[in-house]
Amino acid sequence: MTSVFREDALAGKVAVITGGGTGMGADMAVGFARLGADVLPLSRNLEHLAPVAEEIRALGRTSEPLVCDVRDADAVRSTLDGVVERHGRIDILVNSAAGNFRCPALDLSPNAWRVVVDIDLNGTFLCSQAAARHMLREGSGTILNIIGDFVETHGEAMAHAAAAKAGIWNLTRSLAKEWGPAIRVNSLSPGPIQTPHGVRALGSQDRFDRLAAAIPLRRIGDCAEITNAAAFLVSDAASFITGASLAVDGGHSFSGYDLPLDGTPGR
Ligand code: NAP
Repeated sequence: MTSVFREDALAGKVAVITGGGTGMGADMAVGFARLGADVLPLSRNLEHLAPVAEEIRALGRTSEPLVCDVRDADAVRSTLDGVVERHGRIDILVNSAAGNFRCPALDLSPNAWRVVVDIDLNGTFLCSQAAARHMLREGSGTILNIIGDFVETHGEAMAHAAAAKAGIWNLTRSLAKEWGPAIRVNSLSPGPIQTPHGVRALGSQDRFDRLAAAIPLRRIGDCAEITNAAAFLVSDAASFITGASLAVDGGHSFSGYDLPLDGTPGR
């Protein structure tokens, strides 16, 4: 993957990436470390986080796995306070942790709805608030929220995730307004990206691959394409960008966001 960045583009920055042990979060964690950042991946499972932290340390950067459930306000606050105690500050927060599955709205149990909204929307708010307490004291910082191309249109058998991500998009702008000029807050909106979760959410690689037909660029995206765009948005090169959303979706959202599936949920 081509990179337009200098190798020290994020040098000296301390980054926390929620969902940083798998998929796009893990790719961003290692990618930011390659650009000089010290990166702390955060999620519920040490077995996801430990190999990523090890890969970052092998690049000569500082890392430690942060085991934390983003739904737990006290745990989030003490985890991010601990980061500042041990590493001095938080310059970058990426909210990539999420849960999703396909399910028609009529079949969604109250608990299924709550779980997704709790991880995606509430978790993003809790992490942002806990990081912002430190960033505002330092007078600088940046937050990047990973949303999704369905925010612009609709979630087909994913009303729960689409509603939660649309909430995050509004939160992005509300916080950008409230926490500027110290903190820049932006969103990145991926289209279908090849990750184990992306495939699992649709049920099979074959169903996932079929999405390419509805994408103007006629293919599924790659994690590195998300990492490149994310690195730009959290870097000083994006210093006049806040309250924005960048679509990295091969044109999926503007072209109508059809899911060319047979209408049944993946699982
Ligand atoms: P993924 O690998 O499943 O990433 C989600 C991460 O969230 C996992 O690392 C998981 O780690 C973590 N997580 C889940 N619940 C958590 C909780 N309660 N507390 C802390 N961490 C939690 O999925 P991905 O495909 O890379 O997706 C990354 C982001 O892109 C997500 O926000 C997703 O909604 C968005 N997105 C993905 C696609 C796609 O096609 N892949 C498209 C549009 C948007 P643990 O299990 O270790 O907790």
